[in-house]
Amino acid sequence: MLQIHDVNFEDTKEAFKSKSTKQLRLSYLLFWMMSKPLLVRYLSQITRFLLNVHFPIKWLIKRTIYSQFCGGEDKNEYLKVIKNLGKVGIGAILDYSVEGEDSEADFERTKEELIKIVKISSEDENIPCACMKITGIGSFEVLQKVQAGDLNKDVAEFVSIENRLDQICNTAFQLKTPIYIDAEESWIQGVIDDLCEKMILKYNKERAIVFTTLQMYRRDRLQYFSNLLEKVKAENVKVGVKIVRGAYLEKENLRAQKLNELSPINKSKEATDHLYNLSLQMAIENIEHVEICAGTHNENSCNLLVELMQKRQLENNDPKIWFSQLYGMSDHISFNLASRKYNVSKYLPYGPVKSTLPYLIRRAEENTAIAGQMGQEFRILKKELKRRKLAS
Ligand SMILES: Cc1cc2nc3c(=O)[nH]c(=O)nc-3n(C[C@H](O)[C@H](O)[C@H](O)COP(=O)(O)OP(=O)(O)OC[C@H]3O[C@@H](n4cnc5c(N)ncnc54)[C@H](O)[C@@H]3O)c2cc1C
Repeated sequence: MLQIHDVNFEDTKEAFKSKSTKQLRLSYLLFWMMSKPLLVRYLSQITRFLLNVHFPIKWLIKRTIYSQFCGGEDKNEYLKVIKNLGKVGIGAILDYSVEGEDSEADFERTKEELIKIVKISSEDENIPCACMKITGIGSFEVLQKVQAGDLNKDVAEFVSIENRLDQICNTAFQLKTPIYIDAEESWIQGVIDDLCEKMILKYNKERAIVFTTLQMYRRDRLQYFSNLLEKVKAENVKVGVKIVRGAYLEKENLRAQKLNELSPINKSKEATDHLYNLSLQMAIENIEHVEICAGTHNENSCNLLVELMQKRQLENNDPKIWFSQLYGMSDHISFNLASRKYNVSKYLPYGPVKSTLPYLIRRAEENTAIAGQMGQEFRILKKELKRRKLAS
């Protein structure tokens, strides 16, 4: 464990000061359920079925798992959540997480929604930036075919993807609101990288408006980051990078196995942790050229970033450095960092209960898969509930 300087993630009183004991008990129950893989699988299937036959369980979902991980069904609801986070110095990033879109009309609608989000972000001091997925504005299949060389980049569908992305980034540029572009599966990420780099060169002349994402569970990403830094230095632009570990581990390994190829993913969690931390180091060493968002729930990585900032004598709230966690997770990290004036944001999914269900089920399944994460959430909630009991 690294030495902690001025941030104490064990301060559960600070971390949960805005939560009632009733809310904490509900969170505890939810994380307990998520630690049971079989239970998660059955409950997910039952919930999907009940919603499909219009059985009235929406209210139950909304009061439980939805309120833990989502901001609200409409603007009125999510703005309340954003305001509350803002009161303790935490920003919110509206995450339009629609899934299963596959027509050109759907992609256009998503583009319009993303442009709306950029505008809302630019008007609200509690929303530091916007975020998006390329597969929200274009077909996965087209991206995959272009990456594999089976389609040319001048095919109409791909040109439309680039045009939509350009319109979103241009709005972000005009309104001086950064936009984070998420990283996805490696068999489409090559094309996503090309699109991001094009936008970075076009819009990041003065500051980082367009942020690409580095998944450090990939063996090749540190070298990619180093090459990207060389490119932006040569072009005299800034680069924005969101640094994450990566969300598609099993899918990536399975695909590589099926194709009898070397997996692009590191051999071990330790190797991923090591590369993640090296990328933070590389970012801070090049802070004149780069703005970063450390998207992680890992305490050691957050501690390391704090330490690297202090070594370089950067202010806690240096505008080039952000920490980010998902809404409903790792509040002990977010709230304690924010209490020390570090820049912190939460990814905040929003939308109708039914359309956020795939996200919620994935949250539950991913949390089940990440045993360490569950242990951390559990332990910290238990500690605070115990502290409150003793204090009463
Ligand atoms: C704000 C935010 C934005 C995000 N954006 C994206 C995004 O754009 N794209 C994306 O893919 N993900 C994204 N994620 C998810 C992220 O990639 C991780 O899946 C998640 O945050 C868990 O990693 P961790 O650093 O929080 O914590 P940890 O619990 O320390 O790490 C878990 C992660 O380590 C890696 N890992 C686990 N076991 C192994 C192993 N055996 N070998 C190699 N690596 C292993 C995996 O990436 C796993 O998710 C985002 C997360 C956050 C908080």
